[in-house]
Amino acid sequence: GSLADVSNMDKVKCLFCNHVIIGGVYRHKQHVAHVGNFVAKCKKSSQEAKDRCKKSLEEASKKRREKTSRELEL
Ligand SMILES: [Zn+2]
Repeated sequence: GSLADVSNMDKVKCLFCNHVIIGGVYRHKQHVAHVGNFVAKCKKSSQEAKDRCKKSLEEASKKRREKTSRELEL
């Protein structure tokens, strides 16, 4: 995707369907990868794009989990 509005990082425009997602890149990735129930699913994303976005979402949530468990240890 690309930023729909340079002054607003929360608005990301989908390059597949031109849909503007408000909520940032994370939401946009959910839109492309068809993950989650809070965003409209992209009807035009390719399988490759879906896989790539899904993978990066998984990595992001893994990193978040690691960070949380480390904070719990401390
Ligand atoms: Zn889309």
